Amino acid sequence: MEIPTLENRYPAHLPADGFRRCEPVAAADPELLLWNRDLAAELGIDNESPDSQRTARLWTGTELPEGTVPIALAYAGHQFGQPVPQLGDGRAVVLGQLTDRSGRRHDLQLKGSGPTPFSRGGDGRAALGPVLREFVVSEAMHALGIPTTRALAATTTGETVHRQFGPEPGAVLTRVAASHLRFGSFEYYAHRGDTAGLRCQADTTIEWHFPALRAQPAPMRYLALLRAVMERTATLVNEWLRVGFIHGVMNTDNMTLSGETLDYGPCAFMDHFRPDRVYSSVDRHGRYAWNQQPRMAHWNLARLAECLLPLLDEDDNAAVDAAEAVLGEYPDRFAIGHDHMLARKLGLAATEDDPRCAGSTVSELGERLLALMARHEVDFTNTWRLLMQGPPDNREQVERLREWFDHDEGVEDWLADYAGRLRAQGIEETARIRRMTAANPAVIPRNHRVEMALEAARGGDLAPTRRLIDALQTPYQSPEGFPELALPPGPREIVPATFC
Ligand code: AMP
Ligand code: MG
Ligand code: MG
Repeated sequence: MEIPTLENRYPAHLPADGFRRCEPVAAADPELLLWNRDLAAELGIDNESPDSQRTARLWTGTELPEGTVPIALAYAGHQFGQPVPQLGDGRAVVLGQLTDRSGRRHDLQLKGSGPTPFSRGGDGRAALGPVLREFVVSEAMHALGIPTTRALAATTTGETVHRQFGPEPGAVLTRVAASHLRFGSFEYYAHRGDTAGLRCQADTTIEWHFPALRAQPAPMRYLALLRAVMERTATLVNEWLRVGFIHGVMNTDNMTLSGETLDYGPCAFMDHFRPDRVYSSVDRHGRYAWNQQPRMAHWNLARLAECLLPLLDEDDNAAVDAAEAVLGEYPDRFAIGHDHMLARKLGLAATEDDPRCAGSTVSELGERLLALMARHEVDFTNTWRLLMQGPPDNREQVERLREWFDHDEGVEDWLADYAGRLRAQGIEETARIRRMTAANPAVIPRNHRVEMALEAARGGDLAPTRRLIDALQTPYQSPEGFPELALPPGPREIVPATFC
């Protein structure tokens, strides 16, 4: 296996206490389980002999590519609302970066490769189940077109790790990310009152993720950074809502500056729709429920804004005013994105209310549908696909939907308003289907499917996991060879909680 030379750009771009040099721990018996050929090719890593022993050694951290400077990053965070002054990579090291075919740089990080100076009481390890879960779900998110970190490899170390449910094989995920800069990275310097560190962190973020802002003078540049992150975050959360994704641990240390989804722990895709749905076993009070995510993203942005205050104005009150003005833009920014998202899912254009058309605005139309869906707890994913089975004023289709919604009286009204809206916008059936196909996945990594695959993997059979990953590559097509994948769980298959 040949890989291009990794360069680690963090040491030159972060203050000295923002990271620690840290070697991964050699694995007792490295073995490669999953290899992402497409991603490897994008990154210029050869796919010649992914089965070789060297590959397994490389992606467990047992052998390092020449010149590699592995580091663990420092960060802080708010965990379930509580500030934690120091967290950091407790079980991960960044090996360095590679440039993809389109010129973008990506971190390569080993997650689960042993203790680091930030491990606190932890063992620095990752277990097989969560590693495979992150592989499956992050690659599914990528295929859905949602910004996310990715998975290059999953390996086992030959060691056993001890978790809540007993012993599991130790595993390592090779994660690829635009960067590992988190809201919590800023909090780390803010807790220490280190304004120079903060400025360095902010300028690095601009350099790596928002280069268009470089030319702006300070302090405008930092306010522009806050706004840009706010916009990306609003976009990301709308994308999560679009596909029924629940992150599960939206702590500030799990929120990226790049706008990518990071840290797949007890995350889940919703089957039957309930807006306050929670799966995460660690989220006892539903702080990060599906419908809380927009609000929690705003809350997290406020924590980021607090960190930036010393960079915004020498006068504290003026800094607060400036930050609050940007944060105050979030609800509208989010709502506009949300209207667009619902319009896309309905195959409509997100225009202002069209006065020629009686009834509700496009977003009201979407919200009314969501309310119907919630009232009858129908399958989130399949409801949208069902809407694609025929025109909303077709008799059979109306009957189908009446049945789907338990003969709710609101269904026919809603369908009539929907049909009216389509006519008013001049959207033909073929165009509607084309638009809806692009916005409404047929397959998502449903909990029960993921759990079945992981169960087989724990028993040594990786075939179901590979099959699942393959099928999730084309989420907007019906899974012809794997029709079960589009089905919600049966009563006995429901996975009520997810663990990490
Ligand atoms: P997470 O809940 O995965 O976002 O992690 C929160 C914090 O706990 C981060 O600082 C992790 O690096 C750390 N952490 C999680 N699991 C372990 C582990 N097994 N060993 C050491 N640190 C860990
Ligand atoms: Mg984390
Ligand atoms: Mg994690």
